[in-house]
Amino acid sequence: MATVALERKDRIAALGYDYASQPKQALTSCNLCSASEFVILTHRDRYGYPAQAHACRRCGLVFLNPRMTVESYSRFYNGIYRPLVSAFHGRLIDARTIQDEQREYALERAGFIRPFIANTSARTMLDIGGSTGVVAHHFAREFGLKGTLIDPSPLEVEQAQRLGLETVTGLVEEHDFGERRFGLVIICQTVDHLLDVAGTLARVRQLLSNNGLLFIDIVDFRAAYLRTWSVEAAVKIDHPYYLTEQTMAAYLRSSGFEVLRSDYAADHLHVSYACRPGTANLDAMPSVASVDELLREVRFVQNTAHDSRLKA
Ligand SMILES: [Zn+2]
Repeated sequence: MATVALERKDRIAALGYDYASQPKQALTSCNLCSASEFVILTHRDRYGYPAQAHACRRCGLVFLNPRMTVESYSRFYNGIYRPLVSAFHGRLIDARTIQDEQREYALERAGFIRPFIANTSARTMLDIGGSTGVVAHHFAREFGLKGTLIDPSPLEVEQAQRLGLETVTGLVEEHDFGERRFGLVIICQTVDHLLDVAGTLARVRQLLSNNGLLFIDIVDFRAAYLRTWSVEAAVKIDHPYYLTEQTMAAYLRSSGFEVLRSDYAADHLHVSYACRPGTANLDAMPSVASVDELLREVRFVQNTAHDSRLKA
């Protein structure tokens, strides 16, 4: 175990990525509820980088703070992200190798949204953070949609272009779609990577046609730390946000989405949601009891952890 951890540490060190010196911004108000009282949960991420995860004391939203700037993240996705994940897992993960996994994911998720597609008149689809386009391509073919994809990684967008999708290289927070509306918006394994979840969901609500459908999924933060019994192992600089069922439900309701169905994925880690436009309910925040429960559970896991990987 110690050897495995050391080899991993060496592989990550060999990348020469200096996280500590990347330009960052300090967040002073919660992206979900605007409160300003935070609890610092962790001081290092799973790679060993000095990244703090904070929890909002009022709503339980967990996020990196301080956090890299838009420019730092753009550089990160242009050449660091996949090599870093490869170094962590000890096998090559790149724009080509991830496609098999994405095909499998596309098949499974198409089954989840199929019952709801029939109720829309969707002709167009926007895939936010669509990576190599495998999922968008599959959905477009399966449901007869014209697909558009936006992603910050040039290498992955290049793959998506080959699949005949309209592509945008960039971040959805930065891109102006003008008056365009989409019948289906999908945000697959992406929301945790966003820099502004509330802003993106508000944007999506505008981009979605009146009877449109939103598909979105999260890595359930609680599932992530409970499966490894380590909060640090669930934190990584690639994820500015760490969502739970409570905080995601609050995000969706407060952004004007009504959840039609949610699904605990077979991997026991992701939770998916099919949503339609509804009325925004800004009072739909997680309860004080649920925040207390989250903090108590985090503390319990930290105080009973046997995980030695991060100490190596
Ligand atoms: Zn909050």
